[in-house]
Amino acid sequence: MRQVAVLGATGSIGRSTLDVIQRHPNRYRATVMAAHRSVDDMEALCRTHRPLHAVMGDPQAASVLAERLADVPSVAVSSGAEILDDLVADAAVDTVVAGIVGFAGLRPTLSAARAGKIILLANKEALVSAGGLFMEAVRTGGATLLPVDSEHNAMQQCLPVDLEGRPNMSDVEKIILTASGGPFRGRSRASLDAVTPEEACAHPNWSMGRKISVDSATLANKGLELAEACWLFDRRPEQIEIVVHPQSIVHSMIRYRDGSTLAQLGQPDMRTPIAYCLAWPERVDAGVAPLDIVAAARLDFEAPDLEAFPCLALAQWAITQPGGMCVFSAANEVAVAAFLAGDIRFTDIDKVIAGTLQGIDLVEPESLDAVQALDQAARDVADKQIAGCFTRPEA
Ligand code: NDP
Ligand code: MG
Repeated sequence: MRQVAVLGATGSIGRSTLDVIQRHPNRYRATVMAAHRSVDDMEALCRTHRPLHAVMGDPQAASVLAERLADVPSVAVSSGAEILDDLVADAAVDTVVAGIVGFAGLRPTLSAARAGKIILLANKEALVSAGGLFMEAVRTGGATLLPVDSEHNAMQQCLPVDLEGRPNMSDVEKIILTASGGPFRGRSRASLDAVTPEEACAHPNWSMGRKISVDSATLANKGLELAEACWLFDRRPEQIEIVVHPQSIVHSMIRYRDGSTLAQLGQPDMRTPIAYCLAWPERVDAGVAPLDIVAAARLDFEAPDLEAFPCLALAQWAITQPGGMCVFSAANEVAVAAFLAGDIRFTDIDKVIAGTLQGIDLVEPESLDAVQALDQAARDVADKQIAGCFTRPEA
C-alpha cells in the first residue's frame, strides 16, 4: 500500500490525484492532505478519503476544519509550514504529490526531496525559482522525481529511464515542448487589452486552476515549462523547441540523433500523467477515455506568436540571467493575482514582469534564504509596478 501526501488537495491537481487514488483503494491511500483555506472542500474530501492528517496553510481555516471534523477523530487537523515539512518527511509517507500552486509549494516539496521521497511534481514554480537547490536536494536526499506536468510527463515517457526514474539524455538531439496556445491563440495583442479573467480562464482543452489558466493564456506557462524542462532533463534552453499544437493531443516530443522523433499522445486529462507517476514503472487505469485518433482527425503545429504574447519572450530572456526565472515567476504570480482581482489588464501582466526584471539586481540565489529573499524583492518591485503604473480597468 503506497501512502500518499496530497499537497494542494482541494485544487485541480489534488482532485485529479484523489480521483485516481480512489480507483485503486488496494494500492494507494491519501494519508496526508494539505490545502490553504478552502474549508468546505477540505471537509468533504476528508470525509471521503479519511486521511490521518489534514493540514491547512491558514491557521483560522484549520480551527474551523477541526471543529467541523470533531465527529471524525481519526483525522488530525493542524496548521503551519513546519508541521507540513515534518509530515511529508515522515516515514509514514512514501509518495508526495506537489500540487500546491506557486512559490508557497517550494518548502514542503524541498522537504520531501531531502527526505528521499517519491515526488510527483506538478508545482513548477518551485522548480523554476529554486531549480539548483531543488535538484541538489533530490540528488543528495535520494528522492525519485517524476514530472506530472503533462508536457514533461510526455518527455519522461519518451525517454529511456533508469530504475530511479532518471532519464538518459545521451542520444537526444532536441526536446519539442508543445503548447496549446491558450484561449487567445491567433489574436492580435491590441485585441487582448479588454479580455476578462473569465475569458482568460476558459481554456479550450484543459480544466485547471485559475493561476495556471491565466499563465496558459499569456504563454508565461510555456516560459515556466521551458525552465522546468531545462532542470528536469539537464538541457540548455536552445536544446528545447517550443511549438504550438492547438489540439493538446501530442503532449511533447523527443527527437533523437538518428532522426526518430517520439511523441506521447493522450486526452488532455491530468489523470493520465498522475496515474503514470503513481504507478510507475507499472501502469494503472486512470479513468480517462481512450484517445479516438480518427475522431481527433488532425494534429496542427505552428510557431508561437511572441509579439502577441511577450511573456514567453521575457521568460526566454530571463532564463539566461542569474536568478532571472525566480524573479520572472514571482512577478508573474503577483501580476496574475492582480489581473484576477480586476486591478490590471491582461496586457499589463507582461509589463509588470518586464518592469520587475528591469528594476531588480539579478543574482543567482545560492541558498533557500537567498531564494526567498529574491522572491520577496521581486514581489515588492512588482507591487510597485502595479500601484504606480497602471489604473484599474473600466468595469
Ligand atoms: P489550483 O488553484 O486548482 O489549486 C491550488 C491548490 O494549492 C489548492 O489546493 C490550494 O488550497 C493550495 N494552496 C495554495 N496556497 C497554499 C498554501 N500557502 N499552503 C497550502 N496549500 C496551498 O491549482 P492547480 O491544481 O491548477 O495547480 C497546482 C500546481 O500544479 C500549479 O503549480 C500548476 O502550475 C501545476 N500544474 C497544474 C496543472 C493543471 O492541470 N491544473 C497542469 C500542470 C501543472 P485552497 O483551495 O485552500 O486555496
Ligand atoms: Mg503543462
